[in-house]
Amino acid sequence: MLTEIHKAIDALYPEMVDIRRHLHQYPELSFQEYQTAQYITNFYDKLEIPYQKEVGGNGVIATLKGGKPGKTIALRADFDALPIQDEKDVPYKSKVDGVMHACGHDGHTATLLTLAKVMKSYQKELSGTIVFLHQHAEEYAPGGAKPMIEAGALEGVDAVFGTHLWATTPLGTIQSAKDVLMAGADRFEITIQGQGGHGAYPHETKDSIVIGAQLISQLQQITSRRIDPLETVVLTIGIFEAGNAFNVIADTAKLVGTVRYLNTDIQDQVIEEMEKIIKGVCIANECTYSFDYIKGYPPVINHAKEVELVLHEARKIPDVHQIEEIIPVMGGEDFAYYLQERPGAYFFTGAEKEGNHYPHHHPHFDFDERAMPIAAKTLISTYFAYQQDI
Ligand code: MN
Repeated sequence: MLTEIHKAIDALYPEMVDIRRHLHQYPELSFQEYQTAQYITNFYDKLEIPYQKEVGGNGVIATLKGGKPGKTIALRADFDALPIQDEKDVPYKSKVDGVMHACGHDGHTATLLTLAKVMKSYQKELSGTIVFLHQHAEEYAPGGAKPMIEAGALEGVDAVFGTHLWATTPLGTIQSAKDVLMAGADRFEITIQGQGGHGAYPHETKDSIVIGAQLISQLQQITSRRIDPLETVVLTIGIFEAGNAFNVIADTAKLVGTVRYLNTDIQDQVIEEMEKIIKGVCIANECTYSFDYIKGYPPVINHAKEVELVLHEARKIPDVHQIEEIIPVMGGEDFAYYLQERPGAYFFTGAEKEGNHYPHHHPHFDFDERAMPIAAKTLISTYFAYQQDI
């Protein structure tokens, strides 16, 4: 049956591409994915597969109950886009100004919908239940996974699997890790309240730009001098805003950035060290500050047995040429929350497009659409194996 299903997936490849390209042209930002959710529910209406909509926000959960008993396994695809201007020159370029599917979530959705269509025709023979988990708002913390889980998305679910099309990895490659696959990703905002004044009389002011500059270089010492070098931490300041006239000393400065980590104990240590440095620098400069640290998604921690199953099944798929166990990447994903609740695995499906080497979240991002059937086959093979093996 599995070979037949794989063939059926290939047969629907043109439709899969159409779905992806339609979604690509009409991207929607996190928490605003109303049309996309509507597109998904229309699709399930046509298939006559029951679903729940508005799950924890714009989430959609369709359930295909097989004719034979078995486990309930959720397969997840996210469907939000990013605030990026699409600069690709392709017929399926985004039609929405300033919004783009620059991470491949359009492909994830096309993959899962097509798989649902294929599996509908095998419903009678199917053991167990497939839960098609269409998640909104992956790109923007607090994300969609958490509210969907709180709304009961994992009730009755035995295991959860998901994949990310990975445009920097060659087509035909499946990658995962048996433990941590992706980093925890946090955000912070520091505001320095100095004392502005005339650029010619600095001694009468408290220069928030000079203080901010000290802070930036001091904060870099957290990763280089305060954390065990064998632990992995990133501290990036992506925004430094202050001042608006050449001869005026800036009253306030704002620093916004991200912290990435693999180990939750280290997260607390980073916060503590940041607080100490900010406080110390501000005392020395007689200014005040505010420090907001917003904990984002936790690390994606896979379950070893489930990862083994994915890799074992992927190896049998003729389109898969390479299986790799990788070290963690420092990107974040709210798939982490599902894995805190249920056994499961997250993996990357290589989707590098020839002649397009732009990374995820880039205005020229694109991926090789032939990765979508590979993702679908790996997911459904895993589903079948999980029914039998565990
Ligand atoms: Mn993504």
